[in-house]
Amino acid sequence: MRVRKTVLVALVVSLAGCKSVNTTQPGAVGVERKQNMMVSSDSINRSAGKAYAQVISEAQKKGQLNVDAAQLKRVRAIAGRLIPQTAAFRADAPGWTWEVNVITSKDVNAWCMPGGKIAFYTGLIERLQATDDEVAAVMGHEIAHALREHGRERASQAMAQGIGISLVGAALGLGGGAQDLTQLVVDLTFNLPNSRTDEVEADRIGVELAARGGFDPRAAVSLWEKMSKTGGAQGPNFLSTHPSHASRVNDLRGYAAKVMPLYEAARAKH
Ligand SMILES: [Zn+2]
Repeated sequence: MRVRKTVLVALVVSLAGCKSVNTTQPGAVGVERKQNMMVSSDSINRSAGKAYAQVISEAQKKGQLNVDAAQLKRVRAIAGRLIPQTAAFRADAPGWTWEVNVITSKDVNAWCMPGGKIAFYTGLIERLQATDDEVAAVMGHEIAHALREHGRERASQAMAQGIGISLVGAALGLGGGAQDLTQLVVDLTFNLPNSRTDEVEADRIGVELAARGGFDPRAAVSLWEKMSKTGGAQGPNFLSTHPSHASRVNDLRGYAAKVMPLYEAARAKH
């Protein structure tokens, strides 16, 4: 076993180690940062597909999937305006196998797993009384995480730190580790906080996606203000994976102003 692990580690270092990529174009907001990837997009997207299917089927069993047809239609319509705008950041993204579902839950939460697997919780929509512009702000932010492949990057960081040798097998398509990678996607989605760098990137790309889709980018500011008020002692789930900072609202305000011309241009087309 020891020999096999050593061989695998050597393979990873030589074959997959430290592949430096730029996942997205900078856009009007100018997000530019090289990312070190040790796991392929295909591996992480396959695992995310499995993780997503598990979450959705569990929600369905509990009668918590897409219960309110009008609400589902509304959320999917917003996604339908945002997804084509992803082309501004990467040409392949509009062609991804996007999925958008609404889960009945008191949790104030929403996420997008790698490869475009989106879930919105009724708690976020109803407890925040989110407007279309505010739903678009959250969705744009979550889509941005997927475009930047932050999940893949964080899985790569976990691998670089030697967390779970079986991940190595998953990365190389050797089998056996795929389940671990799926579990890691689940942990990244529900439990592990995003880094501040990832949050800033997702905020900036998110307001641009919203503006290009004809949604008022300033809604990101009002959304975060509502979010922190709803936080309370335990805080909504969303805040546990999306740490808030005082500087966040200021940054959002500045970038929302920057993309206002895109918003006005999109509005003029309708
Ligand atoms: Zn985020």
